[in-house]
Amino acid sequence: MAQKAEPFWKRKSLEEMSREEWESLCDGCARCCLQKLQDEEDDQVYYTRVACRYMSESCRCTVYQSRNEKVPTCVWLKPEDVEHFFWLPNTCAYRLLSEGKDLDWWHPLVSGDPETVHAAGISVQGKTLSDADVPEEEWEEQIINWCSD
Ligand code: SF4
Ligand code: SF4
Repeated sequence: MAQKAEPFWKRKSLEEMSREEWESLCDGCARCCLQKLQDEEDDQVYYTRVACRYMSESCRCTVYQSRNEKVPTCVWLKPEDVEHFFWLPNTCAYRLLSEGKDLDWWHPLVSGDPETVHAAGISVQGKTLSDADVPEEEWEEQIINWCSD
């Protein structure tokens, strides 16, 4: 009987993945679409519940093709930036794999279902305010602790 092959994220490093494999690692949680604040003294990153105004209720980017023009600070993750992935949310597949960890049961690649990231409460669905409604000077009042360690 043939042995079942290990899934690609266990066999390959982030740098070795095809573009399609790389893209499929994104679980659709939209945690990276939350606004962040960085402490100038120690560089600590704090996540807030304030989300980018272009995030839909289903956690999708509504301006995906033009996101870099609409939101210059929108981050485009690339394999060559792996050493900087420490600031990513603690559940993000790119960060987990860059730290030698595995994907959890709710990740769509493991469950086979894109809805499990929402059902497990990992996505930001229903937990955010829009940055169209909350001015930047008030973001500090909206700091959350469920995205960072
Ligand atoms: S935090 Fe990571 S897994 Fe979640 S949407 Fe952003 S890139 Fe994708
Ligand atoms: S532009 Fe799109 S991908 Fe970028 S932060 Fe906003 S919603 Fe997220």
